[in-house]
Amino acid sequence: MNVKESECNGELHPKALEGLWLFNQRKFFEAHEELETAWREETGEIRNLYRGILQVAVTYLHITRRNYDGAIKVYGRSQKWLKDWAEICRGIQVERLRVDAKLALQELERLGKENIAQFDVAFFKPIQWSESRIWICDKCGNEMYAKNCKISCPNCGNRFDCSDLNIYFD
Ligand SMILES: [Zn+2]
Repeated sequence: MNVKESECNGELHPKALEGLWLFNQRKFFEAHEELETAWREETGEIRNLYRGILQVAVTYLHITRRNYDGAIKVYGRSQKWLKDWAEICRGIQVERLRVDAKLALQELERLGKENIAQFDVAFFKPIQWSESRIWICDKCGNEMYAKNCKISCPNCGNRFDCSDLNIYFD
């Protein structure tokens, strides 16, 4: 087992988890901030995976701000930090992220600098991961299951989406 494989066991830094949730809500600036905190606080090699993901967030942020050159540059940097990790690392589907980010970049390049405003945000695919975060159902008090962007209550069927999360945060 190489260093990177052994690094893939264990929990995600809580700030990295926050960053993934924000990323999937397309709050790329906020996602970048949380992932940067995780990168700074983490001492193990896994910090570089956080750095790679945060650079994908910054790439997407540049695209939303129509900064073509910035997006190309930061995407290029992210490759160094995203490569070599296992397909799934700490529950994160890293390979899927690599493919999704590449497809987004190819679309950006296809459009070119002139047409960046036409970029379809559907190319900002959510990051898939498994996690053990516990949610309590606001209708019946049961524990809810979270999977990626969907949270559901096995008791009463209550469900919500991560895009609704801002109402649960405070
Ligand atoms: Zn319930």
